Amino acid sequence: MKLEKYSIGTGDRFGKQGKAQLEAVKRAQESGTEIAIVWNKSYREHSIIHTDPVSVREEAESSVKALNWKGGYYVDADHISLTNVDLFLESSDFFTLDVADFTGKKAAEKEINAFTDKYRSYTGKLSVPGISEPLTITEEKIRNIAGRYLLAVQEAGKIYHHIEKSRGRENFITEISMDETEIPQTPEELFFILAAIANEGIPAQTIAPKFTGRFNKGVDYVGDSDRFAKEFEEDVCVIAFAVKEFNLPPNLKLSVHSGSDKFSIYPHIRKSIRQHDAGLHIKTAGTTWLEELIGLAEAGAEALDLVKEIYASSLERFEELAGPYSNVIDIDRNQLPLPEDASKWTGEQFASALRHDQSNPLYNRHLRQLLHIGYKIASEMGDKYLNLLEKHRDIVGRNVTENLFSRHITPLFL
Ligand SMILES: [Zn+2]
Repeated sequence: MKLEKYSIGTGDRFGKQGKAQLEAVKRAQESGTEIAIVWNKSYREHSIIHTDPVSVREEAESSVKALNWKGGYYVDADHISLTNVDLFLESSDFFTLDVADFTGKKAAEKEINAFTDKYRSYTGKLSVPGISEPLTITEEKIRNIAGRYLLAVQEAGKIYHHIEKSRGRENFITEISMDETEIPQTPEELFFILAAIANEGIPAQTIAPKFTGRFNKGVDYVGDSDRFAKEFEEDVCVIAFAVKEFNLPPNLKLSVHSGSDKFSIYPHIRKSIRQHDAGLHIKTAGTTWLEELIGLAEAGAEALDLVKEIYASSLERFEELAGPYSNVIDIDRNQLPLPEDASKWTGEQFASALRHDQSNPLYNRHLRQLLHIGYKIASEMGDKYLNLLEKHRDIVGRNVTENLFSRHITPLFL
């Protein structure tokens, strides 16, 4: 299985927007750009909503059939580890091996020595095509990088070989994610991480490093976007170089996690991938759930009331909801509207506060982040929520498609 050059991860918390999401990718195809669609759902999401990985496969297949989609599509077991991979073996054909928890933990000394010996030939000035200044590699740097990442890559190797045994080498796509770590990886680190990945025999087709800056859920990038642009471009060049040096899959590409809504860096990403003829995987999930809320708010009446109820409960249960996402949200509670005020809003006001349009003075990124993590409340409502989604599926679906196509796919790929 070979992942296409461009792909987009379209997580869908409640499994109802598969067709609306695919519609966005289909529109891209109609305007001449092929993008593969990847339905991703993490173990974390499954356990919060109490869904089964098989449901993602069912949604994918039924959406593909309904829209007569002939392009690439996959089901991604997102952020899985050795402890939960078995749940996904049957239904997934894309596996995102999350080894962030193992970064910073040391492999055995003799393995670090062996790694350092094996790659000692890269010490000195290392010219990477596309990067103006050569990298300066020392033996100490290689040793430090091995100390920080070798164990994590060995863990990825264990998960990979476990999946390979069950599915067969050619029948799935492998991504390695290190995005949920504290410290971003430099291009030099990425180079030796890729060496380690090749060394473990993992034919990774995408890799998700942690980039500089904040990738908060559902909102724009926070940080120095010029610095990001430089780092991203260097990563692109390092990958192309490492593919040749270490004999990795030629289509290996960067994956940008928490990739939705990072509008201020999309022009940089677009420029880099075009300039270097590189691929890209952009992973999104919660942005679709927020469009469900926007659609329901616009529908008004009981649907708007339900959105207000979800907001009020999310505010009440802030700590509990924020816990699992503490590294990837920045909410200033003083900037959140009081529930008694929000309860008086019209559907249009609510949609304006929530929709990611930074030119709208009513837009509130704190409210948006809070509702991003508030999906647990909706899942507890069960049919009450799902029935309203079904009743208003046209207006919700329009928002889902429009968001992915106009705000994500167009600036990145078209
Ligand atoms: Zn991630």
